[in-house]
Amino acid sequence: MSLPSWKREAQKADRPVVRNSVFQKSLDEYPVRFIKGVGPYFADLLLQKQIETAEDLLFYYPHKYLDQRALVRITDLTPGKDRVIAGRIVTCGIAFAGRRKIFEILLGDDTGAISLKWFRFNPRQMMGIFKKGMGLLVSGEASEFRRNIQFIHPTVQIVDADVVEQVSAPGIVPVYSQIAGLGQKSLRKIVANTFGLFGNTLVDPLPESIRQKRSLISKKESLQEIHFPSSTSSSEEILSFRTPAYYREIYEEFFFMELGLALRRSLIKKEEGISIKVDVETVTVWKQGLPFTLTGAQERVFEEIVHDITEPHPMNRLLQGDVGSGKTVIAFLAALAAIEKGYQVALMAPTEILAEQHYRNAGKLLGSFKIPMALLTSRLTLDEKRRAHARIRKGLFPFVIGTHALIAEKVSFPQLGLVIIDEQHRFGVLQRAALKEKGKNPHVLVMTATPIPRTLSMTIYGDLDLSVIDELPPGRQKIETRIVSEKNRRILYNLLKERLEKGEQGYVVYPLIEESEKLALRDATRMSEELQQIFPKISIALLHGKTPTDEKESIMRSFQSGGIQLLVSTTVIEVGIDVPNATLMVIEHAERFGLSQLHQLRGRVGRGSKASLCLLVTAFGGNSPAYQRLKVMCETQDGFKIAEEDLKIRGPGDFLGTRQSGLPELRVANLIRDYSILKIAREDAFEWIQKDPKLSSYPPLKDILLRRWGQKLALADVG
Ligand code: ADP
Ligand code: MG
Repeated sequence: MSLPSWKREAQKADRPVVRNSVFQKSLDEYPVRFIKGVGPYFADLLLQKQIETAEDLLFYYPHKYLDQRALVRITDLTPGKDRVIAGRIVTCGIAFAGRRKIFEILLGDDTGAISLKWFRFNPRQMMGIFKKGMGLLVSGEASEFRRNIQFIHPTVQIVDADVVEQVSAPGIVPVYSQIAGLGQKSLRKIVANTFGLFGNTLVDPLPESIRQKRSLISKKESLQEIHFPSSTSSSEEILSFRTPAYYREIYEEFFFMELGLALRRSLIKKEEGISIKVDVETVTVWKQGLPFTLTGAQERVFEEIVHDITEPHPMNRLLQGDVGSGKTVIAFLAALAAIEKGYQVALMAPTEILAEQHYRNAGKLLGSFKIPMALLTSRLTLDEKRRAHARIRKGLFPFVIGTHALIAEKVSFPQLGLVIIDEQHRFGVLQRAALKEKGKNPHVLVMTATPIPRTLSMTIYGDLDLSVIDELPPGRQKIETRIVSEKNRRILYNLLKERLEKGEQGYVVYPLIEESEKLALRDATRMSEELQQIFPKISIALLHGKTPTDEKESIMRSFQSGGIQLLVSTTVIEVGIDVPNATLMVIEHAERFGLSQLHQLRGRVGRGSKASLCLLVTAFGGNSPAYQRLKVMCETQDGFKIAEEDLKIRGPGDFLGTRQSGLPELRVANLIRDYSILKIAREDAFEWIQKDPKLSSYPPLKDILLRRWGQKLALADVG
C-alpha cells in the first residue's frame, strides 16, 4: 500500500537532515514561514492561532481523529458489514419508497454515487443537519437493492468537505481545529514537512531515567503517532486519546507544570523572610476582645499561620473555607500580629464593595487597637490617592486594604510584612506575585471561599501550603433551598410577601447576561420597579456596578441597619457581603450561574439565628439538565460537594475561570480526565526538584521549563 504524500514527507525524519544553512535554528526558534509549504500568507493565518515557530506547529495537536482505515472508493464498494466511504452530498431530502416517506441522501465521490436511506427519521431535524455539498464519512452495512449498493440507517459523521479528498488516504486521519483559510490537507502537509525537518534532531524534553521509570515512548515517536498515526493502535484508543503517544504527551505537560510548581515552592522555602515572633499571651488577650469565640477549626488554622510567620522564611499559605466559615477574622488576627511588631499589612480584595466591607470590619474588630488604616481603591480622587500613597510610603498606615489598586498604582510599602489576598481565585499567580513584590519577601496568605476539591487544589496551587476551615461557627441554620419555575412567579411573590411582612430582609440577584452589565441592570431595574408596585410599603433599593460609591455605601449601611428591606442587584454583591439579618435570597436565571457561585450567593443568608430561604428561579423544566444541576443545590449545603459536582459538569477551566485563576492553559492534558497521570507526574517532578534543585543534571529541563512556564508561573527570577 502506498503512503499518502503527507505521511511520506513525515518519513523524511528518518533520513539525515539537510537543512537550509541560513536557518540553522532550533525547533523553537525556527519561524513557520520558512517551512516548506507555508510562506508569508499561511504564516499570517497560523499566527492568528499563536503558531509562530516549528515547535508551535508540532504542538498543534489534532483535536480529533477519523478512522478511515476501512475507507474505500464508492466504485469499489461491495455489500457487507463495516463498510466505510466518504463523499459529498449531491442531493438530499424526503423521498418516497412506495407509499412510505423516507429520507434519502445521494452521496458522491470522484468515482461514483450511492444512496443513504432512513426509514425512521425526524424530517425537520434531518433537513436542518444535512445540506448539499457537505462532506460525510459514512459507515455501516452496505446492502444490495435492485443491483445498486446502498446504506440503510448508516452511521454518519460530518467532515470537512476537504477531508473527503482524503479518500486516497486511508488510515486514521488527524483533524486539526479549524484555521480559517487553511485547509486540513495543507495543514497536514505543513506539519509533515516540519516533522520531516526536525523529527530526527528532536531533543527529548524528558530525561531518559524518567522515561524508563514510567515506560514512556520517545518524543519523536509520540509526535509521529499523534500527527501520523500508524494503524497499530486500536481506533478507540486513538479516538479517545488513550494511546502510549498521548499518555506520554499528557505526562510531559503535567510534568513540566509540576516541575515549575515544585521549583517555586522550593525557592520560596529557601528565601529569607521576616520572622514575626508572636506572643501567646498577647494573642489570648486579642481573642478575648472578639465578640465571639473562635471555632476549633479557626483556632487550628490560626496556629498554622502563627507557626509559618514565626519562621525566618516567607509563608505561602492558602486558606480555604466555605462561605461564612470566618476566614476574615483569622486574617485580621494575623495582620494584628504583624502590625504589632512594626510591619505593614496589605489586604487585597477583588471588588470595591468587598474591600470596603473589610475596611469597615477591620475598624469594628480591631477598633480598640487604634491602628491607622487606609482604604485604597480606584475610586479615590487623584489627590486623595497621592496623599494616601505618601502616608503609606512613610509607613504611617500599617494596615492598607484595597482592590487591585494596591498593585496597579505606584504604591510602595517600606515595611511590608504580610500580604493577604481575599478570594484568591479572582486573582492570578502574577497578581499575587505583583503584590508580594511590593515588599521584601513578605508572608503571603491567600483566602478562598471556592472550595476547590483538595485533590485539585494541591495540583494547581502546588506551591502553596493548605489550611482548611472545615467548620462553621455555631448556631448557623440550614438554608432551605427551592427551585421556582419562571411560570410560577406568583409562588415567588407569595413567599416574598410572607417574609417581608414579618420584617425580614432579603436579596434578589440578577446574573450578568452575556457578560453585559447593561442587560442585567435593565432586568434588575425592571424587577425592582415591579416589586415596588407589588409591595408599595416595603423599602426596596437597587444596587449595581455603576452605583456611585457614596450611594452604594449609604444603601449598604441602610440595608445593614434594616432601613432597606429588599436589595435588588446585579452580581456586584456576589462575594463576601455580610448582613446577618437577611434571610431571603432570590436568584433569578439561576441556571446561568455555576453551582459554586450559587453556593456563594446563598451563603449571604443564613448567617443569623432565623431560618433562611433560598429560591432559585429558572425557566427550565424538571427534565432539563439545567434543572437537574440546580437540584444539587437543594440536596446539599456542603461547599466541597457542590464544588466537586460543579467541577464534573463544567471542567476545571470554567470552574476556576482559566484566565482569572492563573490556571495554566493545557494543550493536551485535562485535569479531570487525566487526573491519574497528573498524580504520577507530580510525584516525579517534586522528587526531581529535591534531588536536582538547580535542574542541572539534564539541561533541556531548565530551558524548556522556563520557556513553557517561566512567565505563567512567574519563574523569571529563578535564573
Ligand atoms: P468568610 O469565611 O465567608 O469570609 P466571614 O469572615 O465574613 O466569612 O465571617 C462570616 C460571619 O461570621 C461574620 O459576621 C463573622 O463576624 C462571623 N464569625 C466569624 N467567626 C465566628 C465565630 N467563631 N463565631 C461566631 N461568628 C463568627
Ligand atoms: Mg470573606
